Amino acid sequence: MRRFLLLFLLLLPVPQSARAHGKTENVIVVTLDGFRWQELFTGADETLLDKKSGGVRDLEGLKERFWRKSADERRQALLPFFWDTIAVKGQIFGDPSRKAVSKLNNGLKFSYPGYNEMFCGFADPKIDSNDKKPNPNLSVLEFLNDKPAYKNRVAAFCTWDVFPSIFRSKQNGLLVHAGWTMIKDKPLGPRQQFLNEMMDQLPRYWPGNVFDTITQEAAREHILRHKPRVLYLGLGETDEWGHGRRYDLYLDAANKNDRYLKDLWETLQKTPEYAGKTSLLITTDHGRGSTRVNWTDHGKDVPGAEYIWIAVLGPDTPGLGVRADVETTQAQVAATIAQLLGEDFRAASPKAAAPLPMVK
Ligand SMILES: [Zn+2]
Repeated sequence: MRRFLLLFLLLLPVPQSARAHGKTENVIVVTLDGFRWQELFTGADETLLDKKSGGVRDLEGLKERFWRKSADERRQALLPFFWDTIAVKGQIFGDPSRKAVSKLNNGLKFSYPGYNEMFCGFADPKIDSNDKKPNPNLSVLEFLNDKPAYKNRVAAFCTWDVFPSIFRSKQNGLLVHAGWTMIKDKPLGPRQQFLNEMMDQLPRYWPGNVFDTITQEAAREHILRHKPRVLYLGLGETDEWGHGRRYDLYLDAANKNDRYLKDLWETLQKTPEYAGKTSLLITTDHGRGSTRVNWTDHGKDVPGAEYIWIAVLGPDTPGLGVRADVETTQAQVAATIAQLLGEDFRAASPKAAAPLPMVK
């Protein structure tokens, strides 16, 4: 009898947590703060290409760069890496025209609640401000950094200075470089020294948020010098220029983020520690309004700012392109990051949502 039971157990499907994982050994996560699904899926918005609603200064120049007749051409002009590479070899969730919205569970629709939901796997009503208070919840970055295989091989580079609190790095020792703080390394390389000089020279246009290029280059240097297994890059200019009603600079920021991602991806594919065994997940913390008046804003009273998008590229993500007929939430990001590495975040944090369904 017992023998039959054993045989029966062997025939049961292997539970997800015990599944041998795929090829992914490293994960890079990137966020474009408050970048709307509208621009991702349809490119530049004609109703904002003006001085009054969009605050556009060089209208002809902007149109030349990003205005095209069809939505497909516009999104391709704005985000060529997303549309030439991720949409072909990876997957993109969140296209409302394909019955595939991606939504926040938190009703607050601003940054700290969003990053908590994304990295801790659930919406927490106790997180109701952007104040620099340590997060009471375990993030997937802390979960991984606590494992011997990832110890001190997890890092976050973020333009916004609230991230040390979001990841409670003072408590857990996670490496989080944020805002206008100088880059620390032992020893500092020449590019890192130069970035620190630039931070000293640049105008502090947003006191709590450094320009994307500084953080992007600091992250690239960290990758090349230290070969982290998990790196998070949090970018902020799309949100800042949005609040500033500068649609021209909002589009430029997204376009430059896309160019950086293409270059980073190509560099990873030429680096033995990363080539063919690295996954990339790109998303946003919230959407924004959809009208000529409120596209600049987000928050609980802004209709539509709960809609986001999530893109994944890597050796374990079948090239299904823009996903259809699948609704997802921001809370699924945390367990997805762990699952790509063959780890089960929900075993440590049972409130976390299930990973994204990347295979049909
Ligand atoms: Zn904002």
